[in-house]
Amino acid sequence: MKHVTLIPGDGIGPEITEAVKAVFEAAQVPVVWDVHNAGLASLEAGNELIPASLIDSLNKNRVALKAPITTPVGKGFKSINVQLRQKFDLYQNIRPAKSTEGIKTRYGNVDLVLFRENTEGLYSGLEMYDERLGISDSVARITHVGCQKICDAAFEYAHKHNRKKVTIIHKANILKTAGKILLDAAAKSAARFPHIKLEDKIIDNMCMQLVDRPEQFDVLVTTNLFGDILSDLCSGLVGGLGVVAGANIGRDMAIFEAVHGSAPDIAGKGIANPTAILRSALMLLHHIDEHGQAFRIEAALEKTLLNKEQCTGDLGGKASTMEFAQHVIDNLAAYA
Ligand code: NAD
Repeated sequence: MKHVTLIPGDGIGPEITEAVKAVFEAAQVPVVWDVHNAGLASLEAGNELIPASLIDSLNKNRVALKAPITTPVGKGFKSINVQLRQKFDLYQNIRPAKSTEGIKTRYGNVDLVLFRENTEGLYSGLEMYDERLGISDSVARITHVGCQKICDAAFEYAHKHNRKKVTIIHKANILKTAGKILLDAAAKSAARFPHIKLEDKIIDNMCMQLVDRPEQFDVLVTTNLFGDILSDLCSGLVGGLGVVAGANIGRDMAIFEAVHGSAPDIAGKGIANPTAILRSALMLLHHIDEHGQAFRIEAALEKTLLNKEQCTGDLGGKASTMEFAQHVIDNLAAYA
């Protein structure tokens, strides 16, 4: 049995993680959940935002499934997500966006994997506010080391998964030195993989190209803020935030989580789509070499998604979160 840290999160987090737990239990996945809260849920229980017991659990297990955590807007504490990514140097944020049969979208053949640098840029936490002058300076720190690590990771992934092209997304026409660091790092990584095409695009043009002809892209690499925005855009190409998974990977720690947030507008209603967190959990299973279980649950999930009636409201169905999970469980039998 593999011990995995589970952070149920805020908003819809506890509802969608229950769905994952039910599917894993039915499939008899050899995972034991080590459950710890963080953020608001932890504060409300009288504990720290990031309790020491959670840090201990992460250090011990080295792999976690995390549901979304609410971050107060314009005030309050620093994002728990950003803190965890920086504390454990989870420098790769990997977000695949692939068209799914059964999920109707404007595009039928999207197959992208976005690599977002996860610890630097405008998320470095270097924000200075002069209340008297009413000026806020936010530093977007970009380093050679950080750019090289994310470019190497993307090219190594492209090579391993037989991908053909890596596109670097930047704003080097305006942010000249930051852009140059990223582009130089990409050229260095690309030199090790001459069979993979390297190209680059300016972020604004990239947004237009993605909504116009997303099928022309393959693996994408960008800095933190551009990656955050682009990954929501890519979610929209393949069925929305309810279906897109993500992974935060460091040298010796990995935290898997959906791209979406805690969705306060639908929290507590039992209608959230658990597909995104379930797909994140399947990435986790591949990470711990439980490939057979991952493929089996994925097949049952894909079968469920083919039947709109069995899906949640965001996909045009009427199923609740747990009804959807039960359909996935029922479909597991076909892939024993
Ligand atoms: P959001 O992703 O929570 O919601 C955006 C829209 O998508 C909402 O209409 C929501 O109902 C819908 N949606 C999201 N997930 C869904 C699902 N699984 N099923 C069906 N519909 C879904 O974005 P937001 O409203 O901008 O952010 C809410 C909170 O989440 C904020 O506090 C933000 O900081 C936090 N957040 C956390 C993470 C994380 O923990 N990794 C990521 C993004 C946002």
